[in-house]
Parts: sequence; structure tokens; C-alpha cells
Amino acid sequence: MMYQSTRDPSHKKYTAAEVIKMGLAPDGGLFIPESIPTLTGDEITALCKDTYPVRAAKILGKFLTDYTHEELLSDCEAAYAETSFPGGAAPLVHVHDNIYSLELWHGPTAAFKDMALQIMPRLLSRAIVKTGETRDALILVATSGDTGKAALEGYKDIDRIKIMVFYPVDGVSRVQKLQMATQTGGNVNVCAIRGNFHDAQTGVKKIFGDAEMAKKLNQKGYVLSSANSINWGRLAPQIVYYVSAYCDLLNNGTLKMGETMDVCVPTGNFGNIFAGYIAKLMGLPVRHFVCASNKNNILTDFLKTGTYDRNRSFHLTMSPSMDILISSNLERLLCLTAGEERTAACMEKLKNKGAYTVDADVLAAIKENFSGYFADEAATAATIKAYFDSYGYLADTHTAVALSSAEQYVATLDTSDIRPMVVDSTASPYKFAADVYESLGHTQPSDPLAALDELAASTGTEIPYPLRGLGDREVRFTRVIDAEEMPAAVLGWC
Ligand SMILES: *Cc1c(COP(=O)(O)O)cnc(C)c1O
Repeated sequence: MMYQSTRDPSHKKYTAAEVIKMGLAPDGGLFIPESIPTLTGDEITALCKDTYPVRAAKILGKFLTDYTHEELLSDCEAAYAETSFPGGAAPLVHVHDNIYSLELWHGPTAAFKDMALQIMPRLLSRAIVKTGETRDALILVATSGDTGKAALEGYKDIDRIKIMVFYPVDGVSRVQKLQMATQTGGNVNVCAIRGNFHDAQTGVKKIFGDAEMAKKLNQKGYVLSSANSINWGRLAPQIVYYVSAYCDLLNNGTLKMGETMDVCVPTGNFGNIFAGYIAKLMGLPVRHFVCASNKNNILTDFLKTGTYDRNRSFHLTMSPSMDILISSNLERLLCLTAGEERTAACMEKLKNKGAYTVDADVLAAIKENFSGYFADEAATAATIKAYFDSYGYLADTHTAVALSSAEQYVATLDTSDIRPMVVDSTASPYKFAADVYESLGHTQPSDPLAALDELAASTGTEIPYPLRGLGDREVRFTRVIDAEEMPAAVLGWC
């Protein structure tokens, strides 16, 4: 299996190891597989009997053909071990009627980014060896919160890799900030940026595109690599849990082989939902994808009109990991639907004018698989309260956006058309404890950390292990800089 860039009509090919090492294609495009491997009904049936790590190794093996099954199995077993994921890697919980919650937050940072970032560093370590690389890898991450911490946890103390994380100083929760500021590991660095997520992301992208920076880093013995969701090594592991959820629905008798399910994903960068779409292209029986957004509903508008327009106001919401105006992975969907040339033209317009409109045939094709819905702050809070009061299910703010969107979609269906709806639950409610607590009708305690204990006491649920004792850890990183200072900060640290 070889890979190519979303913007390169000449289809220059790269191996999986090269793609995982490089992150971004040389022309600024994203890597996609040259073709989509198939997953047959018999293969899905066989996966039903497997554990999560075995399911993951088999599915990854279809994409990372330059890795052996033994390598992948050993990495998957290490990444998704019981010690890191005490509640199971991706348990599917029946919430009510046709609604299932795919809980992707039982890992070491209590958020779904762990699903990819516990395995990605292991794949990169092997990629460095497989490509004969002599330099060490330098990972730069722009984060709106969860990615940064999950990347730091995944890469800490991994041989031949350094990681530096940038986050918007006012764009992440107090708990997220504390989690990053107290990160352990000898190869990690964390820096706050004055600005929003987009400023941090643009800063990282600029460094990646800067030949002079590459030269200077090269002299210091480093090659740049990215852990953001644009890296194929982040995306591929996310395909697995959609297949795993389907197996679980077969195993518990909800579905028979070949019957379809719907999927709803709380979306920011469009990586998670795109991984689900790849699973469908492989042959997984998914009928429809609901793309859920918060008040930053640029994707809802795009899926309705075909116009992607980031010239709009940016809102800070209680689901900050979805506070995004540029959904980078949408480029991959465009490429598969419209081809490289039209994708490159759209991306050029996005860069120069901040907006583009896809052709009518492209929008029609996208709409066959995707619908967009959104939940504003009031709807998000109301959903958290309604799900706890009616079903005893405690959802985080991002999951609540998805639950609300899933219900809006289901309400458009005839009763006979209702299918099991798998809703991705992307964070533990304790990651956003203060807002969840307030949504339940209480007053937020002035100390956001106290909210964790208050939430546990008032709901009879448990604080997940990664978030216990956060206030007692040593703060190591306090630096705040302007986006322009990012290159100097990187060079200074190397
Ligand atoms: C990253 C994240 C999302 C958005 O996922 P994308 O792959 O960027 O669409 C949703 N919820 C949480 C909690 C996240 O951390």
C-alpha cells in the first residue's frame, strides 16, 4: 500500500513509514492511501472474536503494509493495554433506544486522542528505523486542548523523539492547562500562545513550510514531524474503533452481519469522522454520518450549502476541542470526492480568500454520506442534563453536542428507518467537570479543580485515574509567547 498527496495529480508515491515520518506532503497536501483496502463480511465476523488490540493490528495491517503483523500486534498490545485503558479501549454503551455511546476516553488522558496517540509514537519510532533516518524526530503540535496532553503522554521518553506543544492561552480549560503544565518526561516542552487555536496551528504550519527552519533544524540533527490529526499515523488507528463498534453490535445481537448502523461524531478537525468514512469505504456497513458541531458551525453550513467560509466570528465554547474554523482533514474528503486538481484549487482559495465553494456534483456526493447538525451552548447544557436525568448517562460537553445532533438527525427519519446510532463519546465528563456540573443545574465552584469532586459527589460517578490528584503535581511549564516567536522558541530548545 502506497500513499499520495491530496494536491498532487501526478500521484507521486510514498510508503506508510515515509508518510508517518513526514506528516505533511511536500506540496502542503495531506497523505491519502492510493486505494482503499477492503474489509469483507467474513473478516468482520472473524474480528468479532478478537480483542481490541488484535482487531487494531489486523486493520492497521491493511494500511501499513511495510510493517509486519508481529510489529503491529506488539505495538497495539502495548498501546491498548489494560493498564492504560482500565475501562477497555473502546467500550460501546447502550444509552437508550437506538442510541449507543462509543466511549473513546478510557485512556491515560481521559480523552479520545489517546486512541491514536498511544500507538502513533510507536509507529513513528519504527518509521525512523524503516526509512534509514539518521536524525531524531521533532514533533510540533498545535492544540486546542486535548491533543497536546495526549501527544505529550504518548511521546514522553520515547527514544529519538522530542515533542513541543503550543496551545492558545485562553482557548483551553483550566484542567487541560494543568495537565499540560505538569507533564513529565525529559523530551517534552510546552508553550502557550497569545491568540486562538488557529494562530497556534498557523504558526506550526509556517514552521513546517519554512525551508530555512528545516535547514537550521537539520544542522542540529532534527527532522520535523507532526502529531496533529493531519498525520496518517494518527488517522489510521481511528478507523479501528468503528469496525470494533460494529463487531460489538453483532456480538450483542443488535445487528446481523450486513445490516447498517448510523454514526455521529463530534467534529473539529474532521479527522475522527473521516476515519469512520474510510471504514465505510472499506466495506463496513455504515449508512450515514452525522457531523456534529458546536456554535462554531462552519461544517454544518458547508454540508448544507457547499460553501466553506471561515470569514465569520470565532466563539469560545464549553466544547473547546471543537472550536475550530479550519477543519484540515476535510481536504482528504474533498480529494476522494473531487480529485486532486479541484482540491488544490479549493485549498488555494481557502488560503487566499478564506472561503471556497465545491461544485454541485461534489456536494451531492458528500451529502449522500454526511449531514451536519449543531448544538449551541444552551442545547449542549440541556442535553447533558436531560441525558443524566432521563437515562443516568453522564456526557461531557463534546459528547453532548453529538447526542443533540444525533437526535436532530433521527427526528428527520421515519420510524421504520431508524437504525442503531453509534455516537462517539470523545472525552470523560471529568475533563470538562465545571461546565458539566453547571449544566446539571448547579453553580460552578470558583476552583475548577473542586468541580471534579463536586461532580463525583453529586452524580455518584468516579473521577477517572488520569485526573485524580492533578492539583498536587509539580508545574513545569509556564511560558507564554506571541505566535511570531514560535520558530525562535523551537530553535532555542533544540
Ligand atoms: C479532538 C476532539 C474532537 C474533534 O475531533 P476531530 O478529529 O478534530 O474532528 C472532539 N472532541 C474531543 C474531546 C476532542 O478532543
